[in-house]
Amino acid sequence: MNKFIKLNTLFLLLLTSQLAIATQNVVLITLDGVRWQEVFNGADTNLINHSDFVKDSAALKAEFWHENPKNRQQLLMPFVTQAMAQKGVIIGDRNKESMMSVSNPWYFSYPGYSEILTGVVDKNINSNDKIPNPNKTILELLHQQQGYKNKTALFGSWDVFPFIVNDVRSGVYVNAGFMPLEKELSKDASLLNAMQNEIPSPWHNVRLDSFTYRFAKAYLLARKPKLLVISLGETDDFAHDGHYDHYLKSAKQSDAFIKDLWQTLQVTPGYKNNTTLIITTDHGRGSHVNDWQHHSSKQAMSRTEQAHKAFPKGIIGSEHIWLAAMGPSIKPLGLVKTHTELKQAQVAATILKVLGENPQQLNPAMAPAIEEILK
Ligand SMILES: [Zn+2]
Repeated sequence: MNKFIKLNTLFLLLLTSQLAIATQNVVLITLDGVRWQEVFNGADTNLINHSDFVKDSAALKAEFWHENPKNRQQLLMPFVTQAMAQKGVIIGDRNKESMMSVSNPWYFSYPGYSEILTGVVDKNINSNDKIPNPNKTILELLHQQQGYKNKTALFGSWDVFPFIVNDVRSGVYVNAGFMPLEKELSKDASLLNAMQNEIPSPWHNVRLDSFTYRFAKAYLLARKPKLLVISLGETDDFAHDGHYDHYLKSAKQSDAFIKDLWQTLQVTPGYKNNTTLIITTDHGRGSHVNDWQHHSSKQAMSRTEQAHKAFPKGIIGSEHIWLAAMGPSIKPLGLVKTHTELKQAQVAATILKVLGENPQQLNPAMAPAIEEILK
């Protein structure tokens, strides 16, 4: 009897220690093409003063400039780099032995998002074309599991996300591009939808992030997903267009959205104290005045003569990414020094482990979780 009780207690202890690391929900937010350079050092002195990229340098500097890079970092992304980094982890400051990169050989968006969401690199995913992903994302793998049906969803600004998630095959809920918000999700749906139509987006294939965020938040409150992905896109497009001022403002606003979401989670039944937040990006960008607007590997650039001529080595460093995370499953480590460089493909298994799932069981080919940040 005594032995039995002891064994039973041991079993219960093991069980609770297993449960202790798992949280019920994960929200993953991606900020398209935000450089690690800005995340860790704030506004770039070479760009904020450059008249080609900034309309009103004095006004921009009043908002984002300080001599000390740590102060600049706080001016740009206070929530991710201070609150999240203090209560959780942040990775990717290459000046401080903290490194993370993509594994895919392209350094642009579809291969990046596929790597984040599937945990594998498929060499056939080599363009941003609207091709249904033959690989299953964690949204789909979970949607097929008991307890997760209709409990995963993705909201994106870019209109290629339905293909990345393969919504037709997977049945995963996707709202991306200029899709409207369903009326039953929010009393504000009509107004938000009207505004989405009335306010011109600078781009034909990417909506403004405010709509993506507000739609996603409405969905979260109405449908209570266990895994929600929110993919914001303005930063990348403003950078491609050479608007460093808009790029900075958009990064700052993204940080404000993340703060708002976290505060919302902490007062929402079902999410309070059992939700983990993960923030990352699909790729980096160039490091210099002549290439910060761009991103792509040597291999990608070699596919057109013009691109190859302009950047024969590709955009060096655009494979470098960053990640921040906090929540009950995440150790409060602050900046994580990496012995071996972490990879983008590890995000998928990390999310599954946070949810208490076994990544190897769902897809044995998946890259391993980032164990060092998990409780
Ligand atoms: Zn991108």
